[in-house]
Amino acid sequence: MLPTTLDEAVSALSTVPAAVPVAGGTDLMCEVNSGQLRPAALVGLGRISEIRGWSYQDGHAVLGAGLTHARMGRPDFAALIPALAAAARAAGPPQIRNAGTLGGNIVSASPTGDALPVLAALEATLSIAGPEGARRELPVSHLLAGMEMLQPSEVVGYVKVPLLHAPQTFLKATSRTGPSRALASVAVVLDPMRRNVRCAVGAVAPMPLRPLEAESWIASLIDWDGRRALAPEALSAFGEYVAMACIPDPPPEEGEEGAAGAVPQLPPAALHLRRTVATLARRGLGRALA
Ligand SMILES: Cc1cc2nc3c(=O)[nH]c(=O)nc-3n(C[C@H](O)[C@H](O)[C@H](O)COP(=O)(O)OP(=O)(O)OC[C@H]3O[C@@H](n4cnc5c(N)ncnc54)[C@H](O)[C@@H]3O)c2cc1C
Repeated sequence: MLPTTLDEAVSALSTVPAAVPVAGGTDLMCEVNSGQLRPAALVGLGRISEIRGWSYQDGHAVLGAGLTHARMGRPDFAALIPALAAAARAAGPPQIRNAGTLGGNIVSASPTGDALPVLAALEATLSIAGPEGARRELPVSHLLAGMEMLQPSEVVGYVKVPLLHAPQTFLKATSRTGPSRALASVAVVLDPMRRNVRCAVGAVAPMPLRPLEAESWIASLIDWDGRRALAPEALSAFGEYVAMACIPDPPPEEGEEGAAGAVPQLPPAALHLRRTVATLARRGLGRALA
């Protein structure tokens, strides 16, 4: 089935309840090819032109779920939402970026989805199309945390992102050179109007993590009306704070009669990951403030 509007796609999914929507197919076809998924029918979203671009509404960009990574990586998009453009440019090899979409990245909700920490830091909201023309809004973070689910006949139409007109960064560490899945990623967004810094760490947990205390601590050190520069020590401390919040020490083991026992050490791989997150957060904030 190849609908040309969101409502047609919803109607096709309602008519054949075992059907599954497919956008670029880069995630879905891997599941089909590996035998994990055997959909009775597919509803292709690729001909729905209304979700392949973006518009503006109340200080927000309303991004179509069908925007490809390749499109989001282009300079005009980067001027609007720099961190999302940087994440799109880092999302896999060119073939994947040409086909893979923003909506697919969100609904797949893979821990290594590159757009996800950026959307978490931006506090983005989804607009979801349902049966009989229904529309509902849902924070991206609620979907990623499993607090709310998509119904089988619903389709993600748009992603609403605030336009902050301020620097923002996305940095990703991988285990090898060339396009690869993230070992860890960090998005940093400055919001000068609300005088806050928002940060989200990807790939180290099933969903992006927000180190809220580290965010408000560092925001309180920034001279928002002045140069907005921070000393290198403050940037390093922010990196450590973010990393400790996302990859904490294991709790102390209980000693005899409830007394605190030995403090267990993090395994070397987790320590390495923590150092990686600290470096990404320090650099990400440093670049945003530079
Ligand atoms: C070799 C390879 C490398 C990759 N590297 C990266 C990487 O570095 N970074 C990264 O982030 N990702 C990577 N990916 C994953 C993938 O490319 C992205 O997650 C991509 O954004 C998925 O989009 P899609 O349009 O292809 O989704 P699809 O495969 O079409 O769909 C994925 C899921 O989302 C659902 N869906 C899609 N669109 C909608 C919608 N609008 N409404 C409701 N449900 C919808 C589908 O039903 C399906 O369940 C890689 C994949 C491969 C195969």
